[in-house]
Amino acid sequence: MLAKAKKAVPGLIVLTMIMCAGFYLARPRVIYGNPTGEIPLVMPSELGGYKAQKILFCMNDQCARAHLEDDLTSIVDGLPVVAGTCPVCGSELSPISIGEMNLLPDNTPIFRRQYSRPGRPPILVTIVFSGIERRSIHRPQICIVSQGSRILNEYPHYVKTGADSELKIRVLDIQQVYGEAGGQTTASEPYIYAYWLFNPERETDSHWERFLYMAIDNSFRDYRPRWGYVSLSLPRSQSNPDAWKRQLDEFVPFLYPVVSELREELDKQRGITTVIETSSSEMNINQGDVEAKTRNPRQNVQEP
Ligand SMILES: [Zn+2]
Repeated sequence: MLAKAKKAVPGLIVLTMIMCAGFYLARPRVIYGNPTGEIPLVMPSELGGYKAQKILFCMNDQCARAHLEDDLTSIVDGLPVVAGTCPVCGSELSPISIGEMNLLPDNTPIFRRQYSRPGRPPILVTIVFSGIERRSIHRPQICIVSQGSRILNEYPHYVKTGADSELKIRVLDIQQVYGEAGGQTTASEPYIYAYWLFNPERETDSHWERFLYMAIDNSFRDYRPRWGYVSLSLPRSQSNPDAWKRQLDEFVPFLYPVVSELREELDKQRGITTVIETSSSEMNINQGDVEAKTRNPRQNVQEP
């Protein structure tokens, strides 16, 4: 009898440890950095001669086209009216693509504009934020591939942001694959996907580095601010293969001060405390400007 009880001891110890760890992690905690707070960001309507436009996505997965707001706008009785349905297939439109809707938690803040300037290819700028719910930010190496594209190459690119400062950006060469017919793969024009990540304190081009910073800040400092994820998509011309570099070098210095100012503003929320419970993922209130309240396309709300 005693021998049997002795045998059970290691198992009981492990069980107790697991339960303690569970209770420890599940306990309500006070964290700093206000990860559910307001995001004081307004996407500029113009950056260095680049004009901003909103984008709306068709919710029909057979069509799934992206439309510029200008292309959907007509003048009715002297007032601009934005069409609520896809001009190609008539389906509902949403500020968030089908892929994003499937991959991202419901309350992910997203800010997005297409910036274009005569004589240059347009640049699509997206800034996504994490909150309490950290799935909001995905490694593009996962979600680009899951959306049917191929990453041909990956490398860093440095953009001068000031007299003696530069920003390290991660660049992916992407080829969108449309489909395969008769053993032949049809592919679209290649494009560049460039990104970097930031929180009030840090800036990196590496998702792994972000995971490490998040783990350290969360575990040892109870500091859990929002992380922002800036991504830029632009075409990669085959006849002019370095044009995208010159364009990023031109455009990023216009965008960068907007992000720097935002980081300073977010840093002012550092002292705000949040008590997190086990199921805190619901706390991330959407603050993006693509009106995620319209994420359900049946409740399409026009902006004033
Ligand atoms: Zn459509």
